Amino acid sequence: MPIDLELWTSVFPQLAPVLEVAAETPGRYYGYQTTRLDYWTDGKVALIGDAAHAMCPALAQGAGCSMQNAWTLAVAATAAADGELPDALKEWERLERPVTDRTQDKSQWYADTREMAKGNQFTGDSVEAALYNPTDPNRHEVHAA
Ligand SMILES: Cc1cc2nc3c(=O)[nH]c(=O)nc-3n(C[C@H](O)[C@H](O)[C@H](O)COP(=O)(O)OP(=O)(O)OC[C@H]3O[C@@H](n4cnc5c(N)ncnc54)[C@H](O)[C@@H]3O)c2cc1C
Repeated sequence: MPIDLELWTSVFPQLAPVLEVAAETPGRYYGYQTTRLDYWTDGKVALIGDAAHAMCPALAQGAGCSMQNAWTLAVAATAAADGELPDALKEWERLERPVTDRTQDKSQWYADTREMAKGNQFTGDSVEAALYNPTDPNRHEVHAA
């Protein structure tokens, strides 16, 4: 902001009426949060998704981690014997949380350093969460830090 009206209308002439209005609209900025909880589970309760591990979208993995954790949580809770759910949830967090923690760290690092401005860096450990297969029984060995 402000929008470079000449540049944007030259690239998207069909959007000129919208861009002209947008160019006169004051900008608004929201900060991103990296939410880190001391623990994700307490008794029979477990948190997943942005409530547990919000991250800035530099790596585009917030929803991905949420869905992976939802899947593995459902599997762990379903497999837990009666009366053992709290322990099963603790073990689920111990096994599944490290990938999300590392993804938050990496995403925050890209946001802090603006490294993505240098071009596509979706390689190596940046794509760990994208490659994490929650249905692979060997995933914890494959992704050991
Ligand atoms: C700009 C941007 C780009 C992103 N791009 C990507 C991407 O490319 N890939 C990716 O994997 N992730 C991406 N993310 C992250 C992703 O959107 C989130 O990680 C994901 O939506 C989290 O899902 P969630 O269900 O935990 O939370 P939300 O999607 O936030 O869902 C929470 C829901 O709860 C509702 N709610 C809140 N309070 C109450 C209440 N009191 N009562 C009832 N309902 C309530 C909200 O309205 C909302 O519908 C991006 C995020 C942003 C901001």
